[in-house]
Order: sequence, then structure tokens, then C-alpha cells
Amino acid sequence: MLYRPEQLVFCQALPKIELHAHLNGSIRDATLRELAAQLNGTSISMPDVQLRTQQASRPLGECFKLFDVIHQITTTCAAITRIAREVLADMAADNVVYAELRTTPKSLPRHGMTKESYMSAVFQGIDDYYAASSRAHDIQVRLLLSIDRRQSTDEALETARLAVQLRDKGVVGLDLSGNPSVGQWETWVPALDFARQHGLRVAVHAGEVYNPEETAAILAWAPDRLGHMCCLDASLEQQLLLSRVPIELCLSSNVITGSVPSYQDHHFAALHNGGHSVVLCTDDSGVFATTLSREYAIAASAFTLSDEQLRQLALTAADHVFLEPGERQVLRARMEQLLGGSSK
Ligand SMILES: [Zn+2]
Repeated sequence: MLYRPEQLVFCQALPKIELHAHLNGSIRDATLRELAAQLNGTSISMPDVQLRTQQASRPLGECFKLFDVIHQITTTCAAITRIAREVLADMAADNVVYAELRTTPKSLPRHGMTKESYMSAVFQGIDDYYAASSRAHDIQVRLLLSIDRRQSTDEALETARLAVQLRDKGVVGLDLSGNPSVGQWETWVPALDFARQHGLRVAVHAGEVYNPEETAAILAWAPDRLGHMCCLDASLEQQLLLSRVPIELCLSSNVITGSVPSYQDHHFAALHNGGHSVVLCTDDSGVFATTLSREYAIAASAFTLSDEQLRQLALTAADHVFLEPGERQVLRARMEQLLGGSSK
């Protein structure tokens, strides 16, 4: 058993902050099945999708196949809008009070989709959520635009420029993600520099596979947050601790994808015990069949965290959001108030 039922209940009641969630990977199973059914008989086999989304525990191969299906069904603005609306509803129901969602704007000329129309569809989904929800005041959302590691310098710069243009729509930063075995770090540095020069913040997926030269170069560039950092040698670990850059940790994702052998072996414990800033996140709650509450419960169980440590973990996430300092302080005060309430 990954955690005791009462641990999950406690973690569901905690107000939480989600800082590493990919929009399309957070799709509901039912929505995935419904959208896939509309494409059944083309490149998608519906029985396969049914089978994969009915498994509570999903090995890595199944997860990658689900990513393939998600890629094929997110080719219309209507699908993107629906996913954005539902992801916010699910997070609000899980007591997430602030979320930074990340997504790669797609240009699909064959489907009449541009990076701009893709982002309009995301904003429409957010607007639809707030228009329909009585819980609307419960969750605040901001966006990071993702650069996929398959992209060229020019494509990455295009995404960075779009992110700067969309600042007043709630875009607060850039993310670098995608297959960690693809591409060269230097390719995307101009785009990340551009974003930073224009006041955006930058999060980078790093150390998902063992690549010491790249991880050292990323640490030297000093992103505002790092994702994962699973595969480091002793020298990189030392550099990471000295950097004091906060790390987004996604326990289920790291264990399912095999970046970390087990929950007990996860580097969360060493970083947390050593006082390094860490934030628990889901990565892809749909694909990995999890929620942020469940990730907190797994951490509580695997690392024997007290209720007070769980509250502190939830609270300190507010210090690492990509909001402006004034807004960040307001969020932190709100978290303190809500956590005070949850401890009574
Ligand atoms: Zn990720």
C-alpha cells in the first residue's frame, strides 16, 4: 500500500499549490476515451485506449502509448478548450488553490491550428471554467509556455516571443521539456535568454537521464526552478545544493518512468532533509493516474512526514511561484490563513 487512506484524506484537505503540470498530460481518462473514440478506426485503436485507461497502475510503456494518443487527439481548439476547463475543475476539486499549467503551443497547418489559436483555445477553457464554476474563487491559474526539445532555435524563439506577447493573459514563464534524450541545450538558450530579458521566469526539466555536461550547463545558466533532477553524480549534487534553485518533484512520474527505482529511494528525502527547497507536483496527473493530494500522501508515507511537515511543504510552495513579489505575498498570506484553518 502506497499510503494509508487517512493520509490521503488529510492531504486532500490541505490547500495546495501545483507548479509542474502539463496541460494535455492532465487530461481526464473519460475525456481521453471520448475524444479517442471520435478518431477510432484511423490511427487509434479504441480497445487499446479502453484497456490502458482502466489500469490504475500504468507501466512506462503504457504511459508512452497514452502520450501518443493524447498527441493525436489534441489537434482541435475544441479539445484543448475542454481539457483546460476540466483540468482546472479537477484541480479545484483537489483543493489546489494556485496552479501554473505548462503547455507547448502547437502549430498544425493541416488542422488549421496556429500557436496563437492554440493559446486562444487554452484561454477560452480557463474562461469557461470561471464562467461555470461556483468554486471559481478557489483556484488561481497562470501559464508557462513549453519549448519542446525537438524544436530548433528559431521555433523556440517563436514560443518565447509569444509568451512575452501573452503576459497580460497570465503567461508568467517558459518551460523546457520533452524527450530528454533529444537535442542540445545550446539550441534553446537564446529563447530562454530572450524570455528572461523580457521579465519572464524560466523552469527547466533537467537530469531526467544521466547527462552530466548538459545538467552542469543548465545549473550554470541558473533557471528559476528545475524539474526532476533525478540522475546526478556527486559533483552535480553539490552544484545543485549550492545553486539553491527550487526543484519541482513528481514522485509517481519519476518512479513510473524509471528515473528513480522506488518511492523510498527518491531524492526527495535527501533534498528535503537537507533544507533544499522542493515542491511536490504531479507532472501528468492523467497519464500517471494521480492527483496532487495523492502525491502528498505518497510522500507522507514513503518519507514519514508529520502533518506539520506536510503543511510546511504546502505553504513553502508559495515562495517559489512565478508571480510578481506583491502577488506572491498575497498568495502566501492566503495559504497561511487556509492552513491555519485546516489545522483546527
Ligand atoms: Zn514534466
